[in-house]
Amino acid sequence: ILARIKDVCKRNGLLILSVLSVTIGCLLGFFLRTRRLSQQEISYFQFPGELLMRMLKMLILPLVVSSLMSGLAALDAKTSSRLGIITVTYYLWTTFVAVVVGIIMVSIIHPGGAAQKESTEEGGKPIMSSIFIPIIKSNKASAESTTRRIIIYGVQDENGSNVQNFALDITPPPEVIYKSEPGASDGMNVLGIVIFSATMGIMLGRMGNSGVPLVSFCQCLNESVMKIVAVAVWYFPFGIVFLIAGKILEMDDPSAIGKKLGFYAITVVCGLVVHGLFILPMMYFFITKKNPIVFIRGILQALLIALATSSSSATLPITFKCLLENNHVDRRIARFVLPVGATINMDGTALYEAVAAIFIAQVNNYELDFGQIITISITATAASIGAAGIPQAGLVTMVIVLTSVGLPTDDITLIIAVDWALDRFRTMINVLGDALAAGIMAHICRKEFIKDGDEVPLICETK
Ligand code: ASP
Repeated sequence: ILARIKDVCKRNGLLILSVLSVTIGCLLGFFLRTRRLSQQEISYFQFPGELLMRMLKMLILPLVVSSLMSGLAALDAKTSSRLGIITVTYYLWTTFVAVVVGIIMVSIIHPGGAAQKESTEEGGKPIMSSIFIPIIKSNKASAESTTRRIIIYGVQDENGSNVQNFALDITPPPEVIYKSEPGASDGMNVLGIVIFSATMGIMLGRMGNSGVPLVSFCQCLNESVMKIVAVAVWYFPFGIVFLIAGKILEMDDPSAIGKKLGFYAITVVCGLVVHGLFILPMMYFFITKKNPIVFIRGILQALLIALATSSSSATLPITFKCLLENNHVDRRIARFVLPVGATINMDGTALYEAVAAIFIAQVNNYELDFGQIITISITATAASIGAAGIPQAGLVTMVIVLTSVGLPTDDITLIIAVDWALDRFRTMINVLGDALAAGIMAHICRKEFIKDGDEVPLICETK
């Protein structure tokens, strides 16, 4: 038995460490809350976690550019367009299903229902400000920064339509690679980078032999980023402890979270569980006829990093590592499906946006008709596509969903108090959706890939 335990620890060492660090981070965070640390002490304490975030963010740009360019250049025109169409259709479909799950959940649980009763008792006057303002006040710093982002996003609307801004964002000149992301004023414009790299990759593939040097360069770059990831992952368990504990130190007093907000959070989590543990794995099983549990076990580490960082873009390097090393997904598929997925496929975010919009309607005593529910499902899908893979981007793109049905955008502040926690769970589902999609695409396209053989010859790849 000892030998077996040793073997399991050896093979899953990193995963076991990551699970331990999430647990230790939670315990440490709650313990230190009782010690009432000063703001300065908290910021020192958060430093190792901040380092982890920076390490991951540092890798996003080279990883996305190199993986998309080398991935698409290695496919012939027919295969890349087939893969592109199937992937994007699958992404849209699963996102839409997630929205429907969210709508069903929020209609059954009806988390804003209690407010309706109370508000009628008070003569129909909306009473949510008295319920929520204390929470918002106690969470002032994070509320202020998020509200600023919402306002910035709102200002974009005044300067041009969302469609115009979206088009500008996906065709960025070099100086706005680090600016102007839809839903994030201070983030990287990953969507623009994805579009640029994918276009370059397709063109490189068409250039034949004359494109090979740049393709080889990108493959080398990709390999070297993955080598950095292989070393950096040993720091992650340590960083995760401080990342999680640091966040717990900052959070509001849980007893201040009202009943309605609590039910709202439960609704979102239930929806995420149904979508992530039943619907997505079932789709994987029906399409591939393979065991989804084995697949999900292979990406557990990526899911933990998603939980710790609340960012699917920052988790991208680990998702790659897990898919290639544990689940043996063809790297050409992963190089295309993952960066695109981390940018546009956010099932968790879409589900949450639909639930949040309907919750806000319920709290406001606002009856939504069938047409408005359909509008919410379409705009929640669009808003999740527009959201960046960074913490709380979904909260910001909620503006689109609320304005589409005439709900007050200010009411986003009602859900801020629990958003940091829900963000972690929805990011896990976002990452899970991307990873399962890569597994499904690898299965669907397996014949073309066997026919094509291995990717274009590499100059520097070490196997
Ligand atoms: N944090 C999410 C992600 O990175 C996006 C969001 O829903 O806020 O996938």
